[in-house]
Amino acid sequence: MNNDLLERVLASPRLPSLPAVALKVIDLVQQEDVELDAIAVAVQNDPALTARILKTVNSSYYGQSGTVTNVSQALVVLGLRTVKTVALGFSLVPNLQKSSESGEGFDHISYWKRSLLSATAAKMFADNAGSRFTEEAFLGGLLQDMGMIALHQVLGEDYETVTDATGGHHTALTALEQDRLGVTHAQVGAELAGLWNLPPLLGHAIRGHHSLLDDLADPTADDPQGAADFVARCVAIGNLVAEVFVRSAAVSGEALKRLQERAAVWFGLEADATEPLLMQIHEVTAEMQRLFELPAGNLGDAGEILQSANEALLKLSMRQHQQTQQLLEDATTDALTKLANRRAFDTALDDRFKLARAGAPLSVLFTDVDRFKSFNDSHGHAVGDAVLIAFAKTLKKAVGVAGTVYRYGGEEFAVLCPGVNRRVAAELAEHVRRQVETGCAVPSDTGAMLRVTCSFGVACHSGDTFSRAEVLLKAADRAVYAAKEAGRNRVRVFTPHNEASSVAAA
Ligand code: GH3
Ligand code: MG
Ligand code: MG
Repeated sequence: MNNDLLERVLASPRLPSLPAVALKVIDLVQQEDVELDAIAVAVQNDPALTARILKTVNSSYYGQSGTVTNVSQALVVLGLRTVKTVALGFSLVPNLQKSSESGEGFDHISYWKRSLLSATAAKMFADNAGSRFTEEAFLGGLLQDMGMIALHQVLGEDYETVTDATGGHHTALTALEQDRLGVTHAQVGAELAGLWNLPPLLGHAIRGHHSLLDDLADPTADDPQGAADFVARCVAIGNLVAEVFVRSAAVSGEALKRLQERAAVWFGLEADATEPLLMQIHEVTAEMQRLFELPAGNLGDAGEILQSANEALLKLSMRQHQQTQQLLEDATTDALTKLANRRAFDTALDDRFKLARAGAPLSVLFTDVDRFKSFNDSHGHAVGDAVLIAFAKTLKKAVGVAGTVYRYGGEEFAVLCPGVNRRVAAELAEHVRRQVETGCAVPSDTGAMLRVTCSFGVACHSGDTFSRAEVLLKAADRAVYAAKEAGRNRVRVFTPHNEASSVAAA
């Protein structure tokens, strides 16, 4: 961390300051046994704060429309926990707002829109989880990015070049800050919270509001930081909600995906339960915007935004599915011949061998191009490659539907024929060998046609012929070797020990 910059920021006279009433409220809320009356007295000293608290408690969100007329009454209705954070929020936010608006070049509308959406979302996720910490989550959401205001106040245009580089993509900001400044707005915000003596829970949430998003740990895991981590997670997920609502469809699809993942892991929320919650969050945010009188601009139409985010998410999942399929295909396809590769063969052989236990035979035809090395040596590697491509094509055509052809490696190929007995397999091998001998030719560098031949080894598993798939394969390989020994361009069939000869001519 860039401690010099951090100290410079925290010591700057340009930092948003705390009004006297906020200092008093902070001091009071830190006391475990504070009396409601003491807070009431502090709040009443500030007419603007008093007005806002009364407005809040009489808002439809808190359900006390017009019936609460003084602060003491409000405190009773809202309860101590709520009052603590509401008073804290209302006493801090106006000054932060003033600072955000005074910084020329600071997009304070987007800033407050995101903060309000995150705060409301944090609160409603907490509420949905049945937590007591709903107001802390709200305040954490509202203050999470105050480090941005501080950094902008102190660094001015230098900070704008960093925020501009994100293209408005807030989740990209911390990495850029780390890179260019050596300190992030999350760190600055958390230090500021410490400096102002805010409850440690808030500092923790502010510090973790980005970094926690990469932490998919089980929230039920027993840890002493439970409440603080919970609030921090509410704020972090609130950020994703804001991202969904303020960003272009392309980005919001990605944010929605991350949001659904985190909602499931952290809050046990299914994807279809997230959607109605998002609609509700959007609605309550509009109300919070009125209560806090924050310049958050137009929040847009939640239904439309969610619809396009969902469409983007669908496209994203389809693209990811295609990419996965492509990777899978690449991993099992031979690039030169486009045949299935050895990896695919090994899997298929294993599967087929297990199925063959049920009784149906399984034949393996193994083939190796004769004196292939001489094509490379006499005509170059490219001609060697052309021979392999032509050979693969002939092989595939000649085998047809009788089996599947694989490039096993180099100039070795395998054909897997489920349900084909030894006699039929031997006939098929002989048929393919002849097709190669008569139909597979490749022009050389001089234009002369190069003839290709190959040797075949056949082995068939039927009942309990072989104990394992590898033994079946080894038998086919031994038969190829026998075909090479006997002069090449021929087929040899493996015959088990209890029959006359172990490798017979076809
Ligand atoms: P045999 O009749 O006994 O099978 O002799 P061979 O020359 O065919 O066998 P050997 O195993 O001695 O040589 C195989 C050669 O195939 C060696 C290797 O460099 C070459 N090779 C392996 N893969 C490729 C490839 O993808 N392209 C090309 N051009 N050559 C390859
Ligand atoms: Mg060979
Ligand atoms: Mg070879």
